[in-house]
Amino acid sequence: MDKETFRKYGHEFVDWIADYFENVRQYPVRSTASPGAVKSQLPVHPPEEGEDMSAIWKDFNNIILPGMTHWQHPGWFAYFPANNSPASVLGEMLTAGLGAQCMSWQTSPAATELEEVVMDWLRQMIGLPDGMKGVIQDTASTATLTALLTAREVATGFSCNEKGLYRHEENNAEGQSQSPLGQRHGERYGTGRTLRVYASSEAHSSIEKGVKIAGYGRENLCYIETDEKYAMKPGKLEQAIVKDIESGFKPACVIATIGTTSSTAIDPLLEIGLICRKYSLWLHVDAAMAGTAAIVEEKRDMLKGAEFIDSLIFNPHKWMLTNFDCSAYFVRNPEHLIRTMSINPEYLKTGRDEQVNNYRDWGIQLGRRFRALKLWFVIRHYGVNGLKRMIRNHISYAQWFAGCVNDSSGFELMAPVSASLVCFRWNNNRTPDKELDRINRLLLAKINETGEIYLTHTILSGHYTIRLSIGQRTTTKADIERAWEIIRSSANEALE
Ligand SMILES: *Cc1c(COP(=O)(O)O)cnc(C)c1O
Repeated sequence: MDKETFRKYGHEFVDWIADYFENVRQYPVRSTASPGAVKSQLPVHPPEEGEDMSAIWKDFNNIILPGMTHWQHPGWFAYFPANNSPASVLGEMLTAGLGAQCMSWQTSPAATELEEVVMDWLRQMIGLPDGMKGVIQDTASTATLTALLTAREVATGFSCNEKGLYRHEENNAEGQSQSPLGQRHGERYGTGRTLRVYASSEAHSSIEKGVKIAGYGRENLCYIETDEKYAMKPGKLEQAIVKDIESGFKPACVIATIGTTSSTAIDPLLEIGLICRKYSLWLHVDAAMAGTAAIVEEKRDMLKGAEFIDSLIFNPHKWMLTNFDCSAYFVRNPEHLIRTMSINPEYLKTGRDEQVNNYRDWGIQLGRRFRALKLWFVIRHYGVNGLKRMIRNHISYAQWFAGCVNDSSGFELMAPVSASLVCFRWNNNRTPDKELDRINRLLLAKINETGEIYLTHTILSGHYTIRLSIGQRTTTKADIERAWEIIRSSANEALE
């Protein structure tokens, strides 16, 4: 592509994105495409010859766009947000243009050093202790896996990485080696005891996934009971740990959730931290969504006990105006992390390795995008106060909506509102529970059919629950009022 064509389309695309930001509410929030509809319009074989950008652009508009769900829509109340911003997109554009692969300091010193600086800004912004160090990861799932791997190594004296998870016996008579997973035939390295991980029953599915991948085995993930607010009961945690020790297990890691995915429940960090300290367990904190709320002083309480944290993850790509992906992973002692992750083949060695951070040793991937750039743009453009304003607005909208639910006889709240998520259901003045599940499923379908707003559901205490999750940059009070109107009228229709 010649320079002039690039310029022409570059300008056109920026204009398109600017208009999209402005007009996104004209689209149905959730794509109405049926399964296979996009694929059926695309050729099975790749083009032999290059095509003109005008043809590609036309197909983007006609084929791809109708198959998109509009996460930046002000009526986005589904799941959690993944909000972006003009500042972030401009930063991302430069990252793509530079096309740098920032695995080591030497492969782009500015990328490493900017990452160190913005991660320390973030640390200060959410009030984590001095001395905690940060690294950008792709997602919370990857960061939690990283934490589980580090905890595993710490608990086994860094022996699993060397020897594998089990001591394998010699080949048997048939010449087959024993199953590496058969505990009957193998013995744990390091401690000789099976490692255990603890998280609340409301913990995110990425924890189970990480436990499986890191080799703990799903059976060794102990789910701890929660209280009426869906927060972990620390007493139950300690009981489980003590029981496991008595049964010959080795407790290794506790994962506290600050802001569960179902209802933004906040596990009591200080009490959990004291237990972790008492039994020398790794404490990982999953604050993927609600970590952002800690930027405002009145929500800082949820990180009380932060001095006990070994690692923490929160996602600027959820609620901090930084387009996906950008997860902020903090550790108290980078030595553990680096010792778990570092590799040092000859072809990656540089003359500066002693003096600098090589972030390739701070996570799973070798190659790294220059993600710090967009984060830098966002924090500088909005300033801490700009971000606080957004967070406070969203929290106040959630409070307003929760008040409406509370004051209405036909609806009820299903969980406390600790940040910007409201869990509710239509109780139709209390028909039997089973019937309510069916009715609320119907109600949610009706709400989403409007195309104006998009909400999703969860199950709380066995009850089908509708979630209204607020976090879009362009969502206004009027949008929340409109959402409440749509929900009420959809309920009336569902009644008929
Ligand atoms: C969203 C979420 C995750 C997963 O985040 P990814 O970055 O998509 O991996 C993990 N934990 C909690 C509590 C979440 O809300």
